[in-house]
Amino acid sequence: MTKISKRAESLGTENAFVVLAEVTALARQGKDIISFCIGQPDFPAPLHVQEAGIRAIREGKHGYTPSAGIDPLREAAAKYMAGMRGGLPIRPEDVVVGAGAKPFIAYDILSTTDHGAGDEVIYPNPGFPIYESQIVACGAKPVPVQLREARDFAFDPAELEKLITPKTKLLILNYPHNPTGGLLSKKDLQAIAAILQKHPQVWVYADEIYSRLCYSGEFFSIAQVPGMYERTIISDGASKTWAMTGWRIGFASNPVLAPVLTRWITNTDSCASQISQWAAVEAINGPQDAAELMKKSFFDRRNLILELLNKTPGVTCRTPGGAFYAWPNVTEACRMIGAADSEEFRKRLLHEAGVAVLADIHFGARVPGEGQHVRFSYAASNEAIEKGVARMADFIRRNTRKVA
Ligand code: PMP
Repeated sequence: MTKISKRAESLGTENAFVVLAEVTALARQGKDIISFCIGQPDFPAPLHVQEAGIRAIREGKHGYTPSAGIDPLREAAAKYMAGMRGGLPIRPEDVVVGAGAKPFIAYDILSTTDHGAGDEVIYPNPGFPIYESQIVACGAKPVPVQLREARDFAFDPAELEKLITPKTKLLILNYPHNPTGGLLSKKDLQAIAAILQKHPQVWVYADEIYSRLCYSGEFFSIAQVPGMYERTIISDGASKTWAMTGWRIGFASNPVLAPVLTRWITNTDSCASQISQWAAVEAINGPQDAAELMKKSFFDRRNLILELLNKTPGVTCRTPGGAFYAWPNVTEACRMIGAADSEEFRKRLLHEAGVAVLADIHFGARVPGEGQHVRFSYAASNEAIEKGVARMADFIRRNTRKVA
């Protein structure tokens, strides 16, 4: 009898897609749902980028490209990534273009750990769920480092230090962070680098896909800390910065691993879409007004949702430093309405108030002692934010009265 492998059976997923299917089904039944589920910009790609894609089609750029990407994109991405990171010496040959930044998560784990050898990968919890699912699927051991609300959802470097063993091969960092919007300060990054100095076998995967959406000063990469450049894989891409999630273009850079990542691509996708690659060249080299406008708009919406959430009974929200996510603490709100946890809160909020959010458990095991959280993606209109949070406040008030 044919069987599915244990690996495939145990493969995790992004539960956001599961909730999204639930939301879509409700909307199809005619329910009025305001959704804060989707982690992508609510803008089209800039017009000049669209035109570059159309031009590539018309000019017959339809074939395979080298697995590492077309030279103009590797050159543009190298310059762009270096410019965003204090002039790091990133060369075009250090950059590999992928079908989004996501595939580099798996390629990187596959390139730095051995299957079943007990190799450990440390990753942020809560975090982008693909980290844990790919660590497990690749046959490594997942070791979560817990994010702390008191530190605005950064982890404590001292906690990280305790988790590192001789088996630790990779540390995944992500900031601005999905799902909390948290950052890692320069001071924390320096402390992390000092710890890693004692553990030279550890690579770092710096998931910097939200690097352009940083609201408190200039973005600073761990690769900029002396001694970290060679051992850090920097991952960035077109999805969030230029609203190009469906175009599927990401870029990763590392002077040692670039040829290895390229080989993975040859073994899987062959290359990213040539059309999208030419569009990404235009996104990077062309005018940046659309990207700047989007950033400004996300910043304004961050301020709006933060103010509204903090006025909501039983809800407190730390200021997210970047990306387009808010991660309010709803522990008290759960208590007020008699919800056992954030997942029950999320379900009732969806079915009784028509507001769709994700719960903390969609981003990993709940951190003991840190309470209950939900994630709002505020890549939604001001009107949706105002209406959605007002509905949530009404929902909490209405149900509090019933319990009391
Ligand atoms: N890393 C994080 C933290 C993300 O949130 C996402 C997208 N949701 C990705 C990687 C993947 O982005 P891409 O579209 O470039 O594959």
